[in-house]
Amino acid sequence: MTTSASIFYDSLLASWEFGDVFGISQEVFDHVWAKLSAKDGNSVAYISMEIGADPDVYNPVKDRLLLAPQAGLVSEKYRYYLNKYFNGYQKIPNYSGGLGILAGDTLKSYADCRLPVVAVSLLYRGGYFSQVVDSQLGQLSQKVVWPPEKTPCLFKLCDPNQPDQPLVIEVPFFTRNNTELYITAQVWIKLEVNHTLDYFVPEILLDFAVPDAPEIIRSAATQLYNSESSITKAIQRRMLGIGILPALRALGITSRTFHLNEQHGVVLAMQLIAEELHTTMIEERTTSHNIDQIMTAAARVADNLVYTIHTPVKAGHDRFNKILYREICSTTCQHVLDILAQDEEHPDEYNFTNMAMRVNRSANSVSRLHRDVTHKQFPQFAEKISAITNGVHHLTWISDERAAVFDSFPLLDNWRSNPGVFANCTTLINDYDFRASLQNAWQHDTGTLIDYVNEMLHQHRQQMTETWINPPNYFSTIFDGSTIIRPDVFTIGFARRFSTYKRADLIFYDMDMLCRIILECGKPINFIFAGKAHPADEPGKIVLKELLGRQEELYKKSNGLASLIFIPGYDMAIAKMLVAGVHAWLNCPKRPLEASGTSGMKAAMNGVPNLSIMDGWWVEGYHDGSTGWKFGHEGPIDTASLSESREELLYFEDSSSFYMLLPKVLDEFYNTENSDAFLNRSINNLRLNIPVFNTHRMAAEYLARYQLELPEAQMAEMAGYAKLYSSDK
Ligand SMILES: *Cc1c(COP(=O)(O)O)cnc(C)c1O
Repeated sequence: MTTSASIFYDSLLASWEFGDVFGISQEVFDHVWAKLSAKDGNSVAYISMEIGADPDVYNPVKDRLLLAPQAGLVSEKYRYYLNKYFNGYQKIPNYSGGLGILAGDTLKSYADCRLPVVAVSLLYRGGYFSQVVDSQLGQLSQKVVWPPEKTPCLFKLCDPNQPDQPLVIEVPFFTRNNTELYITAQVWIKLEVNHTLDYFVPEILLDFAVPDAPEIIRSAATQLYNSESSITKAIQRRMLGIGILPALRALGITSRTFHLNEQHGVVLAMQLIAEELHTTMIEERTTSHNIDQIMTAAARVADNLVYTIHTPVKAGHDRFNKILYREICSTTCQHVLDILAQDEEHPDEYNFTNMAMRVNRSANSVSRLHRDVTHKQFPQFAEKISAITNGVHHLTWISDERAAVFDSFPLLDNWRSNPGVFANCTTLINDYDFRASLQNAWQHDTGTLIDYVNEMLHQHRQQMTETWINPPNYFSTIFDGSTIIRPDVFTIGFARRFSTYKRADLIFYDMDMLCRIILECGKPINFIFAGKAHPADEPGKIVLKELLGRQEELYKKSNGLASLIFIPGYDMAIAKMLVAGVHAWLNCPKRPLEASGTSGMKAAMNGVPNLSIMDGWWVEGYHDGSTGWKFGHEGPIDTASLSESREELLYFEDSSSFYMLLPKVLDEFYNTENSDAFLNRSINNLRLNIPVFNTHRMAAEYLARYQLELPEAQMAEMAGYAKLYSSDK
């Protein structure tokens, strides 16, 4: 190997007692690890059931490898890593939707901002699920088989005493006759390396599906949100919550503050309280504890917990039958739950959201409107719940083509480090070159998306003759080799989980009306949809199947002007292609059930206007219409508005409102006399929404809750991001 090549690769390898990691230098590794293991505990452990951060969408280490000196042979050791980064599996399917991707985006910004943070989550060898879509059968779910060993950025830790063996931690899990039974987990680490490769946030991923695990453990550990039975669900939550302390301690991590990204990991609080009680009992030489002692212990633990609540929707809040739960926890924990997890409406259940609400020093919602909803839902905690509006990681979601444009305008210098500079678009909006380059980039990204769609339709047509699967798109069946979907047609995108409150089928509610409007405008329109329903969500799967059933009707009734396409297998890569390629991003949940929503922010980052119900973040991002359009009911928040039943989902009212709006949107897009209006809307998104809805600003707002001590210069940098916006107005 030539010297320059060897210096280059050596600077990307680090090792410590648990093995080697590739992607950062030894110096950077030691620096970060020293912070995470410092005696003062001046760091945060971020706990999330899911983390979405696929390497095919964002991987700064791979980008750096592309710049490697070409000369000379590469040693065996580095060939192994190169092979993994370039030919390995490029996805980590441990997420189901917005919650997980938010976690990933957050950790990436923490790495960019050099915050001392470690994340803890689970590794699911069966992922979430892989979606196959058949026009007759609807969504079919298949197990994902993915090889963590062959995935870049992911490393299995080894036992320091036997380096050829994996590190195994023991976790006290079941209690039988008041004796604890242990289960074991292997430990993986994923490095969220920042874009300058000089800092990282480690994700500790616990893998409980070890070779000798009991079947009940294995099935709960293999698939994210496996809801086969309540006990499987309870066990899965417990794995996360109860694995945190043993894992961090095994690695010498001392974080004093814990951030619960949703209540899934709240068993951690129970464990911390049990530890406090144990200490008290030793100090006071007693063998039992009373309510006062539990409350004192809980108050002490609360001092170290930050909690983010993510949804007003019932399915997002875990409740477990008391009798069933007692099977798996100790008497001490039962006492703690009896006091802290009661649920007035369901006295026979433990409510884990209530417990998270009770045991924290700071609780927050994920948008302003969601804060108001949360205050209604939890009046007893209203005083302590404030808003920190979500964001997205701008470096992940801005398309390469748009990024190249931003790179070439000095007014946007430094946009990668500071998303606040997009405020300079106030000037650039009048710059002819900027406008033209942006327009070109958009066209390019639309071309990429439409090529993908046409290629997909073509492939599905072939599969139709080779397999039993009926292609999900009507167009595959009538496709004759010519290009069906055109890129110069106004294209609306919609992609997210198919939960019923998100109403994926809303705009097709009155198909005759929709087609009449399109015929009157006489302009073509594409609708491109994607998304997965949870495998056990039958109503969600019905929405998906019915959507497929509308394709032919839409096409025929609109005289071929309108096409509805469904892309199966929604994931981050498809999301990135969609949010950059479409002309408007549709979001049509029932207000106020979408606590924040983040896919619309990804569109905004690319200058794609939103077409949305006034819900979640859009209330803050709408800017009187300068960034997009609103439609639908906007009434006050009351009990009826929180109902998730089909009759109260306001299909008629909100779809009618959409039909009223559509002609205006089409006119603006196709208006050749005033072709500036559409692009102005786009640039307003860059100007007004990138500086606000990014995870750097969000990181600064969370930092204020973390009580971390940071060097002065870093505090000043974070204060700069904090100044971009105040969520809790
Ligand atoms: C951003 C994203 C989501 C979240 O979308 P919402 O509109 O906020 O529900 C879900 N899935 C994927 C793959 C995403 O990239």
